[in-house]
Amino acid sequence: MRIKTGVLAVTAILLVACSAPALAQVISRLPTAERVVALTFDACEGPAAPAVFDRKITDFLVARKIPFTVFATGRFARRNAGPLADLARHPFVEVENHSFDHPQHMERLDAAEVRAQVEDTDRLIEEITGRRPRFFRFPAGNYDAATLATVEATGHKVVHWSFESGDPARGLMPGNLRDWVLSKTRPGHILIFHVNGRAPATGEALPAMVAELERRGIRFVRLDEVLQ
Ligand SMILES: [Zn+2]
Repeated sequence: MRIKTGVLAVTAILLVACSAPALAQVISRLPTAERVVALTFDACEGPAAPAVFDRKITDFLVARKIPFTVFATGRFARRNAGPLADLARHPFVEVENHSFDHPQHMERLDAAEVRAQVEDTDRLIEEITGRRPRFFRFPAGNYDAATLATVEATGHKVVHWSFESGDPARGLMPGNLRDWVLSKTRPGHILIFHVNGRAPATGEALPAMVAELERRGIRFVRLDEVLQ
């Protein structure tokens, strides 16, 4: 009888575990065994300084029709609405949500402010691109459990990165960026760079990074191709 009770208890726990909503989580890898990598580019703009697209990056990716994802803030999207709409017309380009005005510490905002950062940006990006974002990335990667839960409750998965490229570092040489990224990248990784004109080494290094990853048999994907 005791064994039976134990089995019942375990079964009950399993049933609860399986039917409960997925635990809050930040995605930092693609859930696939395929040799794929996601190229993601943050288009950050806060209240401090205007920012525009680094055309060296986007021109290269578009010319080669390489799938990529832009995480844009609302401010950046508003300032760059025309170019963003043009990019989003390509089926291999995905535009996702990076908050409205890039608060460095969203965990210090209250829940209503967090929701507004996400939802105002969703509305704007949908107006510009015709497609509502499904993924969110925290500015500067800062969050806590409550902030994460609030963002997930807006219907977004939070997607960060597998390792930092460090591409906004002042004085970074393209060759050093290339060597670092190529030494770290593995299949299933989500790479992070910046496309807001603050990471000049990236546009210089990108063709060589892409060529080497392709030589390794890597295929590039949008996040929404791989993440549910
Ligand atoms: Zn950012």
